[in-house]
Amino acid sequence: MFAIVGGGLAAGRAVERLRELGFDGRLVVFTDEPRLPHERPPLSKQYLRGQLPESRLLVRPADFYAENAVEVRTSTRVTGLSALDRTLTLADGERLRYDRLLLTLGSEAIRPAIPGADLTGVETLRTVEDADRIRQRLRKGSGVLVLGAGFLGSEVAATAREMGCEVHLVEAGNIALGALGPEVAEWAAEQHREHGVQLRTGATVTRFEGSGEVEAAVLDGGSVIPCQLVVLAVGARPRVQLAQKARLQVGDGVLVDGACRTSVPEILAAGDIARFPSPGGTTRSEHWDNAQLQGRHAAESMLGPVEDFSALPYVWTELYGSTVQQLGTWAPARPSLVRGDPASGRFTALQLDGGRLRACVAVNQYPAVKWARQVMESGTILDPDKLDEDGPRVWSEQARGPLKLRLD
Ligand SMILES: Cc1cc2nc3c(=O)[nH]c(=O)nc-3n(C[C@H](O)[C@H](O)[C@H](O)COP(=O)(O)OP(=O)(O)OC[C@H]3O[C@@H](n4cnc5c(N)ncnc54)[C@H](O)[C@@H]3O)c2cc1C
Repeated sequence: MFAIVGGGLAAGRAVERLRELGFDGRLVVFTDEPRLPHERPPLSKQYLRGQLPESRLLVRPADFYAENAVEVRTSTRVTGLSALDRTLTLADGERLRYDRLLLTLGSEAIRPAIPGADLTGVETLRTVEDADRIRQRLRKGSGVLVLGAGFLGSEVAATAREMGCEVHLVEAGNIALGALGPEVAEWAAEQHREHGVQLRTGATVTRFEGSGEVEAAVLDGGSVIPCQLVVLAVGARPRVQLAQKARLQVGDGVLVDGACRTSVPEILAAGDIARFPSPGGTTRSEHWDNAQLQGRHAAESMLGPVEDFSALPYVWTELYGSTVQQLGTWAPARPSLVRGDPASGRFTALQLDGGRLRACVAVNQYPAVKWARQVMESGTILDPDKLDEDGPRVWSEQARGPLKLRLD
């Protein structure tokens, strides 16, 4: 039996790939969620706004699993793992033997230890059920406080505002969406302001107040913000408990090699949970693209030797109808070049290193990301002075001006 634990994107893609490659043995997915493998990005966007039915979250429809003889055991929590006996233990005590096992347990939201964080209406967002509870409180005119202005917090704040709520976005650092570089951070802050979200940077919440239900948040400066909903979006941690029980090597994530194999070769890991080799060390990604690519790669590796996993880091986010995409990794210390005018809502920030493109962050510029992928994958050396000629056509179509060089 090939077993996959987890019901997210990595699991869904692994199942698909195993059957695509002709694996015709017994294949069982164990997930503690009550639904088939599904995706999460819409949970902070279209699904939260009530614009997407739950069925559209599924990686593959129910028919796929029936037609491909894949057993999906929903609402089934795996509580034990013995690498020595190759057995999984389920919450009801059932034990099953596997030949190969893929761990795709993803990550869980961090709940900071703030007094009052246990009040009703103080939520984290990871599952469909979380999104459903949050949506019930997104009523026009109601007060919403989002803690953390990273990807998730920024998206939830934007969605809540679009649904007519009075939104405060509180961030301990000095910028929103900092992982995407200063240009996008400034643009995002402006977007929040323009749409009426109160963005407070360099601020923290010291306690939540209310009797039973949350009624207010108190900030470190003493200001009191009335709210009927709080969304804690301060990060996630990999679910490594099962791997620890099996004494697999675990750091921040389950350590795997380029073939997604853990320290016990017949146990593999992929997606948010996996810490894998990358140039200069190891890395872990909590993004959609990595989960799908790694799920497929792990499936290939379950069947035989594979090349080392390598993929350009890619992430996207959505804010007030704009799409922001990042390819490569943004290095805060590296200077950046900007093409296009952020005020126009269409621009690209690039980071080069000795002429090699290392990161491209684009707001509403799909051709720029496509171009960046070609440049990065081919290892092309760029001349910063000729970017208008060599870059995507959209740049030469825009009003020409000197490239802005930023050195901070
Ligand atoms: C609200 C939200 C919005 C997002 N938006 C974006 C976006 O816009 N762009 C982007 O790039 N990324 C986004 N992401 C990140 C992306 O969704 C994740 O990287 C991706 O879901 C990871 O997939 P995964 O399969 O590794 O893990 P998960 O999707 O977390 O799946 C893990 C599964 O394992 C199950 N599980 C855990 N423990 C057990 C157990 N003991 N027994 C059985 N089952 C278990 C869980 O219930 C779950 O079904 C978003 C994430 C969230 C939460």
